Amino acid sequence: MTIRVAKKPFLAGVTCRTQGWHLHHTPDEVPSPGLQWRFWVGAHVHDRARAWLGDGVMLRRTPLEAAMEDTQACIADASQELLFETTFVWNGLVARADAIRRHGIEWDLIEIKSGKFKPDEKVNAEFVDDLAYTRMVAAGAGIKIARSLLVLINGEYRLNGTAEPFHAADITELVNARAAEFAAIADDVYATVAAAEPPTPELIFACRKCDYFDTQCVGRGIPDPLFLIPRITEKKFEALKRYERISRLPADADLTDNQRRVVEVLQSGTPRVNQDGLSVLDQIEWPVSYLDFETISPPFPWFEDTEPYQMVPFQYSLHRQDTPGAAVTHKEYLAPTDGDWRLYLTELLLHDLGTAGSIVVYSSFEKQRLTELAALFPALADQLKAVIARLFDLEPVFKHGYQHPAFLGRTSIKKVLPVMVRDLSYKALPVNNGDDALGVFGLMRVKMMDEELVPARREQLLRYCELDTMAMVRLHEAAAQLRGGG
Ligand code: SF4
Repeated sequence: MTIRVAKKPFLAGVTCRTQGWHLHHTPDEVPSPGLQWRFWVGAHVHDRARAWLGDGVMLRRTPLEAAMEDTQACIADASQELLFETTFVWNGLVARADAIRRHGIEWDLIEIKSGKFKPDEKVNAEFVDDLAYTRMVAAGAGIKIARSLLVLINGEYRLNGTAEPFHAADITELVNARAAEFAAIADDVYATVAAAEPPTPELIFACRKCDYFDTQCVGRGIPDPLFLIPRITEKKFEALKRYERISRLPADADLTDNQRRVVEVLQSGTPRVNQDGLSVLDQIEWPVSYLDFETISPPFPWFEDTEPYQMVPFQYSLHRQDTPGAAVTHKEYLAPTDGDWRLYLTELLLHDLGTAGSIVVYSSFEKQRLTELAALFPALADQLKAVIARLFDLEPVFKHGYQHPAFLGRTSIKKVLPVMVRDLSYKALPVNNGDDALGVFGLMRVKMMDEELVPARREQLLRYCELDTMAMVRLHEAAAQLRGGG
């Protein structure tokens, strides 16, 4: 029986045959809440885009033979103008076109993506690749393609506004050029990806974001890969690639000051304390509040004054300590999943923050959200600006003041906390990362979660966000001890 290879492993195989092989041979993982939310977003965008494209015929996707039969029958039927989910097979490769529309004696190929269209932005290369793959397979299967159209969410779309929800961009030239490149290597990619054994992997720049890197491939058993160098570019990676590990880098390797600091800490295996970097802690004024937001970016706005994918805070956690070592108090807010909670959230937050003392955050994320809230609610702008003026970002302390080899070159709270505060951990929490938090909230909002699960899931969201700010309390404490010990 002919082995069928789908788009995802093929496209991965264009860059790395081994990754394509793994994708083809590995079963799909159980989706996390974050992934379930993205699946819902994708399906929802497709539903709305199909309605926007017009009346068409929805074809069967499975089983494959039936899907191919439907496609051939509808293409042969001149009365059919618009077909959704057509299936093509060529040389063992399977492609599904989101839609095809009759264009004289040819067809327009239409790919629906949940990304946002912005007129001044370059077309995402991944979207071009997706269309190019489908074009190659559809053309190979015998249909004539006139144009390749990419349908994206219109960035100008507003709830109850007049702008169209989608924009269709004609990217035929880009797609044709890329499809020709794919066609030249298609046989080789197919043969390698479909083979029983994986090809020999080679360390390449794409490995830095590959799920298989340290579990099944070239990074396995390597504690200090070059990808731990912060902001390593492809050019620098290629220049350093022969050393393979940070421990093998020579002293005169071409690195920025920050990269060199990280490399030196990893090579020495000992932490680096820099009192200059820690001295910013002296700016913190008591009482200290510790603030963290969770946000969600719905593809189509939930409110009239937001744009597609605009971030909307739906939750905050706030710890407060009046003096060093004093008892810590906690306040929190989690939005209902109906209505518009943003004004209430903002007013409650202003009340909870009071007007005195520093507000510790971790990264610039909260500052951006507070700035957006100030623009949204002009009547509260002065108070919000006063809040922004009190912010203190703790993350740079762990960039410039203290670096530990176990941070592995990173400064995110998830990397720093287990090293600095061993008795606090995200591991035991059912919701333990921001992606899953927004996924849980999103699924509740769009009523894609069983009602009886909602109370428990809300509680899990609260405990996750609480840990984020408790982590800041303890990290501040740990950093202050380092400062005091200088
Ligand atoms: S780790 Fe690198 S070589 Fe291995 S599959 Fe991933 S990209 Fe390919």
